[in-house]
Amino acid sequence: MSLTLHEARARAAVLSGISYDLALDVTSPEDFRSRTVIRFTTTGGGTFLELHRAEKLDVTLDGSTVTPVYDGSRIPLDDLAPGRHEVVVDARLRYVTDGEGLHTFTDPADGERYVGGYLGLDITQRLFACFDQLDLKAPITLTVEADPAWTVLSNGLATGPGTFAPTPPIACDLFVVAAGPFHSVRWEYAGMPMGWHARRSLAAELDRDAAELRRITEICYDHFGRIFTEPFPFGSYDQVFVPELNWGAQENPGCVTFNEFLLPRGRVTDDDRRRRAMVIAHEMSHMWFGDLVSPVWWEDAWLNESFADYMGFEVAETAAGYTGTRVSFEAVHKPGAYDADRRRSTHAVAPASEHVPDVATATTIFDQISYGKGNAALRQLVTWLGEEDFLAGVNAYLTAHRFGNATLEDLLSALDAASPRDVRGWAEVWLRRPGHDTIRVTRRDGVPVLTRDGVRPHRFTVTAYTPNLEPAGSRLVDLGDEPLALPDWSGLIVVPNAHGETFARLDLDPWSLDALTGGLTGVPDPLVRAVLWPALLDRDPLRLLAGQLPHEPSPTLITAALGRTRDHLIRRRLPAADVPGALAVIAAACVSAAGQDEQRAVALAGGLAWSTTDTDLLRRWLAADATDQGLTLDPHRRWALLHRLAELGGIEAPQIEAEQQRDGTADGVLGALTVLAARPTASAKAQAWAAMTEDPGISGRRFRALAAGFWSPSQRELVAPYIPAYVAAAPTLAGRGSAFAAEVGRAFPALTLTDEEHALVRDALHSGVPTVLKRHWNDELDDRTGH
Ligand SMILES: [Zn+2]
Repeated sequence: MSLTLHEARARAAVLSGISYDLALDVTSPEDFRSRTVIRFTTTGGGTFLELHRAEKLDVTLDGSTVTPVYDGSRIPLDDLAPGRHEVVVDARLRYVTDGEGLHTFTDPADGERYVGGYLGLDITQRLFACFDQLDLKAPITLTVEADPAWTVLSNGLATGPGTFAPTPPIACDLFVVAAGPFHSVRWEYAGMPMGWHARRSLAAELDRDAAELRRITEICYDHFGRIFTEPFPFGSYDQVFVPELNWGAQENPGCVTFNEFLLPRGRVTDDDRRRRAMVIAHEMSHMWFGDLVSPVWWEDAWLNESFADYMGFEVAETAAGYTGTRVSFEAVHKPGAYDADRRRSTHAVAPASEHVPDVATATTIFDQISYGKGNAALRQLVTWLGEEDFLAGVNAYLTAHRFGNATLEDLLSALDAASPRDVRGWAEVWLRRPGHDTIRVTRRDGVPVLTRDGVRPHRFTVTAYTPNLEPAGSRLVDLGDEPLALPDWSGLIVVPNAHGETFARLDLDPWSLDALTGGLTGVPDPLVRAVLWPALLDRDPLRLLAGQLPHEPSPTLITAALGRTRDHLIRRRLPAADVPGALAVIAAACVSAAGQDEQRAVALAGGLAWSTTDTDLLRRWLAADATDQGLTLDPHRRWALLHRLAELGGIEAPQIEAEQQRDGTADGVLGALTVLAARPTASAKAQAWAAMTEDPGISGRRFRALAAGFWSPSQRELVAPYIPAYVAAAPTLAGRGSAFAAEVGRAFPALTLTDEEHALVRDALHSGVPTVLKRHWNDELDDRTGH
């Protein structure tokens, strides 16, 4: 049962002074022991602890054994006298393989076992008995009994093997424990113990990147130390690549977990490095935004994620020296936020608490509105207020609510006091209302005129170009209710929001549009091209790709343009009959663009790997373990080529088995599942479908790997019978938990559906579907049909 806002408010009103002493025993591979001593003060009456599916449960209250009516999710504590109490909950729980609890993973590379609680909404209660809500912060003191050869990592400062000092008060959803034979790189910086950790079989990759990871960590630490007046809030800072994390990373106080895709095997491209630096900065900024000060309830998740997203890109670009990070935000993340803001599920960046009535609904709020759009709104706020006033307000807010909880109103009060501008009016239109404005360019006798459709004030850069796209000027403008004429730029092409300072769609005049579609790569500034690529791709994608992709110098923009074309055009919108022609255009553009630059060649080979129909080319590259440009194939690029070869019917099961042996890692297991599922035969599809739907314990990762191979726009006839089967099976599959429900939602058929197939999904939605799956399906329908 998911906690409701009403229940959370009632519990917070009566409880205070909470602390947890938690003892975990993970020595058995079968199940684990979780013993928690919970101390708290109450004003009296009944309340409850959450604990999910405990076995052998023993509970004592103030020293006496009690036998509560335990329903598998809550331990009621009835008729408590006002004052201080101590509850001891001792239980055994099962490990999980889907991340929703204490996760267990055995490394196929070396047989080593790792266990970890990588928690989050409604998951902490699957590890220990707690008051599982954001505004009941508490110090947590942890001891862990584990194999003495293992390393145990957690939020608190380590005081010995498996023992930790009490944390400062933290929200219990951000508790973390990670245990196993980790390979570690440890050091001390500014008196603070720091470390990077990865599983033992990734030791070479961690050592390869350790100097860079350490350098980024120190730069971010120094940078945040400069801009924030509150000191770093925790006693140590560990960063751990953990197996099978359900998210990109998680901001646990003092001990951040990272998805292992951020520590790639083989080549680390510049884009990989930028993204990783951005994530490191993002997570460290959470030590202040989210950890030191946390929301009261989930409607203010944006106070965590929008700030961290903004800080992540800014700090990686400006402080850590990863130039081009903002280009990837404009080209990849912001288009996703515009898409999200056009769906029925869009919401205000800062919704009202009533719109998030329970934790199950809150799981759907970690979307591109809370990240990308919120980031863009904050960037506009900084542009509009100036950085000095912005930081003054932010610092006052952090200090006023340190180790506590706060709301939008608290932030606005602090910003209002720091700035002469109308921050509340700004927030009303930018944070409280869903949707976005459009900035339009029209011509009056050749003079460009900017107008705004919408309600928000905007401050942004406009750049002007000659008809052959040479830069002719650039200026910062304010645009509101009144049209803005630019008479000195008569006869020039103009691009509003050229540096992406605001969040608004662009509607350029037909003349500028045509010139840019025909010559986009002539625009010298990659940030301006990053703004333009997605805007132009939405209009005439194949003409743009055929003409401009071969000349695009930025690997980031090549990858972004190809990814958007695949995910939106090929897999969602293009009728099946038109798919082969479109793939041919894309493959030809990738081939003709080949050149000497390695990073570009990697990006183009990535596009060719899903668009080519040339099985000889794929076989030649695989046999040489290199492309025709001489680029060696990294393991995951090798799997991408095998995926396409299988889709085209060019590889059989024994060869796939041999590739898995050759790879020898957990990634190889998943890669083989995808490739097996991609083969264009009825029996391959039947086997994959059975594996996805008949094993009730299948991990989210295996399910995702199978789905990635299963659906193919090139195999429409073969997979068509499984579209109704998916619609019928998904609601039951999604009943396992919100993380798995999200996997089921992401496994939506990755090909354009017919009107009848859309109707099937709509009918199923009317007859009731779990919250998380419903959100995915409605979003899919909106993206495909423009609702
Ligand atoms: Zn975050």
